[in-house]
Amino acid sequence: MIRVRFAPSPTGMFHVGGARSALFNWALAEQADGRFVLRIEDTDAARNRPEWTEGIISALAWIGISEKSPIFEGPYFQSSYAEQHREAVAKLAADGRAYYCTCTREDVKARTGSEHQGYDGFCRDRGLTEGAVRFRTPDEGVTVVEDLVRGTVEFPNNAMEDFVIARGDGSPLFVLANVVDDVEMRISHVVRAEEHLSNTPKQQLLWEALGLTPPVWAHVPVIVNEKRQKLSKRRDKVALESYRDEGYLPEAMVNYLMLLGWGTGEDREIMPWSEMVPRFRLEDVNPSSAFFDEKKLRAFNGEYIRALPLEEFVARSEPWLEPGWDRETYARVAELVQTRIAVLSEIRDNVDFLFLDEPVFDQASWDKAMKTSAAEILTGYLARLETVATDPNSLKTALEEVGAEHGLKLGKAQAPVRVAITGRTVGLPLFESIEVLGRERSAARIRAALA
Ligand code: GLU
Repeated sequence: MIRVRFAPSPTGMFHVGGARSALFNWALAEQADGRFVLRIEDTDAARNRPEWTEGIISALAWIGISEKSPIFEGPYFQSSYAEQHREAVAKLAADGRAYYCTCTREDVKARTGSEHQGYDGFCRDRGLTEGAVRFRTPDEGVTVVEDLVRGTVEFPNNAMEDFVIARGDGSPLFVLANVVDDVEMRISHVVRAEEHLSNTPKQQLLWEALGLTPPVWAHVPVIVNEKRQKLSKRRDKVALESYRDEGYLPEAMVNYLMLLGWGTGEDREIMPWSEMVPRFRLEDVNPSSAFFDEKKLRAFNGEYIRALPLEEFVARSEPWLEPGWDRETYARVAELVQTRIAVLSEIRDNVDFLFLDEPVFDQASWDKAMKTSAAEILTGYLARLETVATDPNSLKTALEEVGAEHGLKLGKAQAPVRVAITGRTVGLPLFESIEVLGRERSAARIRAALA
């Protein structure tokens, strides 16, 4: 059975790169009716916080990786496997595959004359029974890692020092704990970020030294920004939560994240999860770095928003509307909103003028629109508004006529009216907006703008 895992360390916001790895694993588990194990690697007590774990679980649920699914297992916590970690270290030491070492960094430096030399093997055959524990790496040959994404990767053994697997106080290091947990959880495929590739030869040696067959490895490419720099939490918007909070739809996010390194193999990139799953193959993942293109993600999201049935769009708008805003009024403009926005957080700026006593004036829009003939246009239109029928067509004809009286085309004549009514130069179509806002309120706004 295919058993994959996602093994985040709960030390910060949930990174989009983590989400991409999780989705690749989830797709593999789903297509093979395997299992997806969530393991929280919480052994760095100084940096872990329980709220990060909760954040990971809720962010995963948001992209469809739900604890309620029958293929989901866990969460397991690395900290509860301390016994197994100790036993593995003891077994490796007992079998002569690892040894105790009491050298300090200064000792090694004094002997080798360099800090970068790596460990010189001084304690290898001293038969110590306490201290840190080091794994005895082979002196010759190569460790060959077969990686489904990167192909065959060879690591010369003489470049691999005898690395530490447990500290003097018995606590395990990442390389060891991560392997022992994968053994315990019977993981068949390790699919993770490329930054762990350098750990892989060590981990493969550990699997073999424990008498076990290593899992299938797949290291998925780094994600970079438009400057080709690795996405970083200091520089880039990397938290999945921030996309959620800006009104990205999870299905658009999932679709976009899957394309970071993988392609649908067809000329359409927009593809629902259910169709991506059977097509996904690790062998097709491109090893070169993947560009996280926020503009493209926005465009995807816009497409997903426009594809929603109207009632569904109205339902998804709900969290973005203020409690006091009249829902029937919103429903009258929802279709116009749906065609105009790329993220749900943009709903607000498009419709707030309908619900507020006065529109929120954007100063730049005001300055731009209230130029030549603005006052005449507003005065003329105000007079028409008293008698004109309030359907969009009649409202439009009336403004065309007022514009013509002052030698202005509709586009120019609209600008001051739009700013007076909505507070901005861009937004929903003007005449539909006036229709929904109503004759009285529209007239009052024009009067206020003239005052
Ligand atoms: N806790 C490690 C990380 O978050 C997991 C590495 C792995 O997937 O093996 O990077």
